[in-house]
Amino acid sequence: MIKILLAFALFIFFFTACKKDSSVVPDQASLDDAGFNRYEAHFLDELWKLNPDWATSVGYHKYDSLLLIPNKQTREKLLTFTKVQMDSLGKFNPNNFLESNKMDFAMMQNQLAEIQWKIQTLKDYEWDPNSYNVIGTFATILNEHYEPLAKRLNSFYEKMAFIPAYYKEAEKQIKNPVVELTNLAIEQHLGGIGVIEKDFADSLKKTNIPETQKKLMLDRAKLSADAIKEYTEYLKNLKNDHPRSFRLGKELYDDKYKFEIQSSLTAQQIYNAAVERKKYLHHEMTKFSKQLWPKYFGTKPMPADSLDLISQVIDTLSAKHVAPDEFQEAIEKQIPILTAFVKSKDLLTMDPSKPLVVRKEPGYMAGVAGASMSSPGPYDKGGNSYYNVGSLAGWSPERAESYLREYNQYILQILSIHEAIPGHYVQLIYANKSPSLIKAIFGNGAMVEGWAVYSEQMMIDNGYGDNSPEMLLMWYKWHLRSVCNTILDYSVHSMNMPKQQAITLLTHEAFQQQAEAEGKWKRVSVTSVQLDSYYTGFKEIMDLREEWKKKMGDKYKLKDFNEKFLSYGSAPVKLIRDAMLAKETTGTEKH
Ligand code: ZN
Ligand code: ZN
Repeated sequence: MIKILLAFALFIFFFTACKKDSSVVPDQASLDDAGFNRYEAHFLDELWKLNPDWATSVGYHKYDSLLLIPNKQTREKLLTFTKVQMDSLGKFNPNNFLESNKMDFAMMQNQLAEIQWKIQTLKDYEWDPNSYNVIGTFATILNEHYEPLAKRLNSFYEKMAFIPAYYKEAEKQIKNPVVELTNLAIEQHLGGIGVIEKDFADSLKKTNIPETQKKLMLDRAKLSADAIKEYTEYLKNLKNDHPRSFRLGKELYDDKYKFEIQSSLTAQQIYNAAVERKKYLHHEMTKFSKQLWPKYFGTKPMPADSLDLISQVIDTLSAKHVAPDEFQEAIEKQIPILTAFVKSKDLLTMDPSKPLVVRKEPGYMAGVAGASMSSPGPYDKGGNSYYNVGSLAGWSPERAESYLREYNQYILQILSIHEAIPGHYVQLIYANKSPSLIKAIFGNGAMVEGWAVYSEQMMIDNGYGDNSPEMLLMWYKWHLRSVCNTILDYSVHSMNMPKQQAITLLTHEAFQQQAEAEGKWKRVSVTSVQLDSYYTGFKEIMDLREEWKKKMGDKYKLKDFNEKFLSYGSAPVKLIRDAMLAKETTGTEKH
């Protein structure tokens, strides 16, 4: 539900030349914090040269016009880069660093190890045909207003020159691909091709680029679109008698979890915790459903099965929702209410100089989710934050009704807590105060999603919704989604859970609609580990708060915990924990 520019959601496209890089080797005199910060800047520029698409997505536009051919040679160059940088990192002693740099150091090490693991062990360039999709980068160049349009269109034009060779090479790299990812690649390449076939031409019309040049640019767009269509034809006709399973398998899953989530717990441990949490939530939900039954059903006999009971009460409460044309207005009205609540309960300090703008979702965002946050990227920390709200105009009444029941009066408030206040929006405002680019670029998805989930519980615990059983029941239903995301992801990828069992888990035990459950199944069959981030981050933050409470004793204040926690930026909770629980606080921290 969040569209921020964090590394966890990005496919890394590597390639290009990495020269032997002697200037990165620091000399003895510059192994302190200042020397390390100089090294970081150099590290990032080297990284972007080898990953121009990733660079574009985080707002670094020096290499916009490059597209690197995805062959073995370019992978070797990236591996060389990781070895050189690991060597350079090894010369520093992070024990002497400020807390912020200690975290950067650990995050850079993790990132380099992850790149190596992807190339040498995961090898998704062989089995994931959608990992070659470059249309998203072209869309970014076209839609983000970081440079004058004519300049961006020129980068677009230069980058397109590589498309035919790029996709020819992709065809050579693919071996026994995953069927689900092959279908996704066909769907998403054809779905996005309008960016090159149509949007580019439409944008050209708005410029005064000379007609002869425009013609060259349009000719190249035609060739590029043809090359992409050829790629999808290739995938459609590919003889694939022994496709790889979409299930990652336990070993790769554990590795990926380690690199992406960076938790102090293993994937198995967090799965076990999620199973326990589900039991606890069912128990609580039963309690509230029993309490609510007479109010909504009078003397009608209560279902004997507790899951049936919960399901019927939820169904009844879901009828309380706004009308389709009041959706955005309802969300806009919530923002000042949530802000006032956070202030009145003294949960954390809000920065009034960074107002949140609620807006209709821009057309190019394709309207996947009903609401999402767009936050300024790592290289544009002063930019606006937008709360994008999808319009329900043009929806069939049935579709709108089903959607509005899902985002009913209760859930809609929790959604705004999660996305905006004090969830993602507030977290990003705090993160952007940290000078560290590394934390913004390699931002940890489990920390970011974990904070949003944690903030829901914090609001409820502090009396948001007046502790009404209706609100509590609906919040638990919403929370159950995060918990079941973890159970589902691990079960499917590590334990072979069959589809029917997965659908039953989501519909029967997590009270989701059939359509929502089918959508989740599709998501789990083309992604892995990301669905773990919500519950893992939540649990780690709750655990850390308990430890911090013990450490602070009488001096504990919730506001202090929240602000201290957020001050480190989007670092893994594990690293924030190390910093917050460190025996001696030196007082020299930057935060
Ligand atoms: Zn209705
Ligand atoms: Zn989120």
